[in-house]
Parts: sequence; C-alpha cells; structure tokens
Amino acid sequence: MAENASDITNRCLKCGFCVNQCPVYRELKDETVSPRAKLRLIKAYREGTLKNDKILRKVLSNCLMCESCYKNCPGGLHTTDAIAEMRAEFRGKYGLDWKKKLLKAALGDKRLRKLSAYWARLVYNNFISNVPMPLDVPAGALSLKNIPRLKKALKNMEAGTGRAKKAFFFVGCVDRFMFSDTAEAVIKVLNAAGYDVEISPDERCCGMPLMISGDSASLGKSARINIDLMSSKKYDAIVSGCPTCIVALKQKYQSIIKGDAEYEEKLKKIVPLMSDFTELVAKNIGDLPPLKELNSTVTYHDPCHLINSLGISQEPRSLIAAAPGAVFKELPGGASCCGSGGFYHVYFPEIASKIGRKKAENIKSTGAGITLTACPACKLQLINFTRSASIKTEVMHIAEFLSNRL
Ligand code: SF4
Ligand code: SF4
Repeated sequence: MAENASDITNRCLKCGFCVNQCPVYRELKDETVSPRAKLRLIKAYREGTLKNDKILRKVLSNCLMCESCYKNCPGGLHTTDAIAEMRAEFRGKYGLDWKKKLLKAALGDKRLRKLSAYWARLVYNNFISNVPMPLDVPAGALSLKNIPRLKKALKNMEAGTGRAKKAFFFVGCVDRFMFSDTAEAVIKVLNAAGYDVEISPDERCCGMPLMISGDSASLGKSARINIDLMSSKKYDAIVSGCPTCIVALKQKYQSIIKGDAEYEEKLKKIVPLMSDFTELVAKNIGDLPPLKELNSTVTYHDPCHLINSLGISQEPRSLIAAAPGAVFKELPGGASCCGSGGFYHVYFPEIASKIGRKKAENIKSTGAGITLTACPACKLQLINFTRSASIKTEVMHIAEFLSNRL
C-alpha cells in the first residue's frame, strides 16, 4: 500500500543519492527542484513552517514523475507518491487548469476519447502533416513537422484461435489511437509466442495522466470498468506494450479502489498476471519461432516506468539478443528519462527539449540504424528529437522490431 506524504518525508534521510539522478535537477542545477528538496518543502508545508503554497505548487509541477529518485533512494522512497498526494490536495483547493480539464474530458469518457482521436487523426493527417512546414510549429516540446502520420485506430478483433494460452491485451490510449502499428505488432508477437490475444472495445484510459495530475479521485469508475474487463474471463496473462499502463493497473489501482472489498478481491487475483510486453515475451522466448536475421546496429532506450517502477531492464535486452545479426550497442544514459514525462513536455517545453536533444545526441553517438524502446510516449519523443537533429535511425517499439523478424 502506498505510504502517505508525511511518512515519506519523515523517512527521507536527506542523503542526496537521488539528487544527481533527477533529470530536472541535472538540467537546472538547482537544488530546489531536486527530489530531496521537494520532500523537504512538502514536510515544511505539512508542518506549517511553509505557509504560502505558491512555491510548493511551482516546484512540484516541475517533475517528470520518472521515478529515477525512487530507483536510487536507499530507503526506497516513492517521492512521486508524495508529489501526487500534494497535487491532489492542490487540485481540490484550486481545481485543474484548462489543459488538464481538456485532458480529463478527452480521456475520461470512452466515446469522447474515440471522437477526439478521430478528429485529431483527421485534422493532423490531412491538413497538417501534408503541408510542407518550413518552420517548427511546436506542440509542447514536440514539433508538428516531426510527428509521424497517425495510424488508424486499432480494430476490434475476434477472440480466440485455439492457442494454448490466453492473454488480455490492455492496449492503452496511444497505441490504440495513434500507434496502432505497435499494438498490431504486440498481438502478432504474442500469437507467435503461443497466446490467444483478446482486446476490449470497452477498455478505458488507465488513468495515469490524471493520477499524476492529482486527480485520482475521479478514476473510481474507469478503474472498476478496467478491473471488470480483466477479471471477466480466466486469462493466463494480462499484458500491455505501455509500461505506464501496467504501473497504473498493477501499482496504483490499489489505492483508487481502497475500501471496496469486492474490487480489492478482484484486483488481488489479477495483479499477479500483469506483465509488461517485454517481460512476458522474454519469459516465453523459447516458444517463439527462430527470428529472421538482420544486419544492423541496435540501441535501446529504457522507459522510466519500465526500468524505475517495474525494475525491468534485462528482458528487453534479451529480446534484442535473440535477433540474429543485431549488434547491440548500449545507449549512453539509456536509463535516463527522454523528457516526455507524460504531459511534462507541454508545461516545460524548454527543459523537455534540452533533455530530448541530449538523448538524440547519445543515440547518434551509438551509430545505431535502429533505436528501440518499449513505451509509446518515449517512441514519439525519440522520433521527434532524432528527426529534428536529422539523425538516421529508425525508432520503433521493441514489439515492432520482433514482429518484423517473424
Ligand atoms: S535518496 Fe531517498 S533518503 Fe536520500 S535524500 Fe533522496 S529521497 Fe531522501
Ligand atoms: S520523479 Fe524524476 S523528475 Fe521527479 S523528482 Fe524524481 S527524479 Fe526528479
């Protein structure tokens, strides 16, 4: 069960092991935005020595929620839980700003989410990506001219083709509505590994964008719908190609449904079945047919939620190693955040761009023809910054890499 902010701040030893691991601190070189300072400010606010919450709100907003501080904290402190709790308190006091209200409206309702994605695809593919853009038109830290054409939404599929194992695929918003090629690759690889794959048209947003905005309180209904979908049949695995979704389902839902015995019981039964795509496929690698050979240098960016929150780093590397002819080159700073941070890049485009540009330089230094990652948001960020630096590398999700080799 998640600790509350006071427990977390009281347990902080102020040792500073987290400080240099924080991508925001590394950019700004300002102790105030470090994880250690964030905890100290929360403590001061809780104890009443910091009365004006303006500074605290500003400092807490400047966080990628990457959990690098958690990974590097000897006490295993979830600084992001303390931040999310404070953000929730401020949301109650001040409400959401218009960007988050828009986000909440678009993601919170199934029909509106589909409709928003439809119009975004229509407008972007027909009127924006087709127009030659001499100038960079920013969308947060991204540039519109670097965003790839949006794929059609993932089609619903027939359940069951008689394979031995059954998996529920939690697709997630980005792969369902923007990168359906990744979702199709996830399905193809899981089929090859012996899984029948089911998706559901009733799946709701996992809720993480709203949770990190301090709006967990509004997620009770959608979390219960998702739990029901995943509990409706006997599955051998529940999987997603988006580590953020798995973190939400596996680690965060518990506190959303706290006190509801029926749903606590349902969740308890399905949590052990939940895996990130790379984790599940690595476990079943012996069931995959031999992969087609390639002749390319490959590098890999570790998504924050995968490496920091779920502790998964070897599995994706073992999948790359399974492809004959892939010459793997570790990415310098590969485990450091790409700067996307959910919607961080919308609020702090300059810092996110600096982090993204460094990531692209590091990719360039590997000379890799293929750059892999395991998260749709990272994929978008990496495509953007490698394109804007004219780096010749093909960025893809590891599911696509494997699917291309089947
Ligand atoms: S590493 Fe952990 S204990 Fe040390 S200062 Fe950071 S949050 Fe506190
Ligand atoms: S979550 Fe990431 S950005 Fe936020 S304080 Fe921790 S290390 Fe820094």
